[in-house]
Amino acid sequence: MTQRKQRKATTKLTSPSANPPKNGFRTMPKLLNMQFIRFVVVGTLNTGFSYGVYALLLYLGLEYKLANLGSLSASIVLGFKAHGKFVFNNADNKLFLRFFIGWLVIYGFNIFIIGQLLKLGFNAYESGAMALPPVVLCSYLLQKLIVFKPKKNPPKEPPPSSTSAITLPTVFMKTHLAIVVPCYNEEEVLPETNSRLLALMASMRGSGLISENSAIYYVDDGSRDKTWKLISQFNADSPYVHGVKLSRNQGHQNALLAGLFSAEGEAIVSIDADLQDDINVIKDMVRLYNEDNEIIYGVRSSRKSDTFFKRVTAQLYYRILMSMGVDIVFNHADYRLMSRRVIDCLRQYSEVNLFLRGIIPKLGFRTATVYYERTERFAGESKYPLSKMLALAAEGITSFSVMPLRFITWLGFFVSLGSLFMVVWILIGKFAMQSTIPGWASSVLPIYFIGGIQLLSIGILGEYLAKIYMEVKQRPRYFIEENI
Ligand code: UDP
Ligand code: MG
Repeated sequence: MTQRKQRKATTKLTSPSANPPKNGFRTMPKLLNMQFIRFVVVGTLNTGFSYGVYALLLYLGLEYKLANLGSLSASIVLGFKAHGKFVFNNADNKLFLRFFIGWLVIYGFNIFIIGQLLKLGFNAYESGAMALPPVVLCSYLLQKLIVFKPKKNPPKEPPPSSTSAITLPTVFMKTHLAIVVPCYNEEEVLPETNSRLLALMASMRGSGLISENSAIYYVDDGSRDKTWKLISQFNADSPYVHGVKLSRNQGHQNALLAGLFSAEGEAIVSIDADLQDDINVIKDMVRLYNEDNEIIYGVRSSRKSDTFFKRVTAQLYYRILMSMGVDIVFNHADYRLMSRRVIDCLRQYSEVNLFLRGIIPKLGFRTATVYYERTERFAGESKYPLSKMLALAAEGITSFSVMPLRFITWLGFFVSLGSLFMVVWILIGKFAMQSTIPGWASSVLPIYFIGGIQLLSIGILGEYLAKIYMEVKQRPRYFIEENI
């Protein structure tokens, strides 16, 4: 074991340095630089390409609406690729959704300006030409500052394996393993879960992978059914089963934490009680742990067993989180192995609003991933109804990203810019063209629009304020009623 520690020390010495310091709000970029010129060139070429596709599709006999749709789609995809690669040096395909939303905003902005200019009496060509400069400028700023903004924490390169000086045959290292299982009203699945986990541990013990004192820790998260009774029974029947009873239901994340902090062992695996995650993967996790990895993520290779709704919303959510710069492992829930050292680091995070999936990747250390097929729940119903899922989703965003706050700033900026145009338009209408009529729409619409934006912004601010309120109280996250 001392040699193992030494190997860890070498790895640590050669591992890349900590994350680069975070930059704060950006200062306004210089507008007329090479990047902007590249942007204009690529944009112009892409527009040419779009017209080419349009002409080709018409030539092939397509109706003009379909041809338009086709050329538009082609130019959006090509525009995304070309801007990412040649203009902003960020060819990350995951940014497509952001790019597409940005494109829609700019498209709407363009149509709005042209519409206003047409109303002022300019013809279509003049309006198009006059709208071009502000549209190009806004499009550039949007893409540079929001869409293709480089990630703050570039993915860490794992240190080269040649750094581990001594290689020990894994047979000699029996890992003291703990398996933590949070349970909330799980009486239907627990007997099966327990017998499968015990069988797995027995086989791992037999093959010398884990030590004799390795054990399972069930955390009863204030269940109202027979869950605790069952856990006590398992504990009486087997020396390898322990239980932690929380004083009330504290939610999955807190229950998990209670288990992680109570369990004894040098490597701790957390897994749901419902057997949706393939437990055999634990063997691979322990092997990877023996190869000096300190965090091993279980990642679902498919979501076939999930409902269509859950699958789509979950994938979308992971993408949104990643695009907001939250460090998160795609398709990984709370099935993972962590070393004792990682658990000790986790103790230093005292936040009440827990989103472990976001915290763990922030810890660093050498990590590895194992893939598995996620199956359906063995028995019982999901303990994560839509409301709890949404709460966890909001937690993930507001605990790790200030993007929504920044979004308000930008929204304010664009709305102010828009109202500046309105002022110019109104003044021209009043003094140059003398054509103002007492307009209901032009006075009432902005009231609703700006009122809506204000409410939305206050709402987002409120979300963060609530979070601060919860955090400053520093309330304990759980109480343990019984430990067996
Ligand atoms: N869970 C918990 N406390 C809760 C809700 C859930 O400890 O308040 C546990 C539950 O017993 C299960 C795990 O968290 O072991 C995941 O819950 P579930 O399988 O119902 O979620 P899903 O897989 O449907 O997202
Ligand atoms: Mg489940």
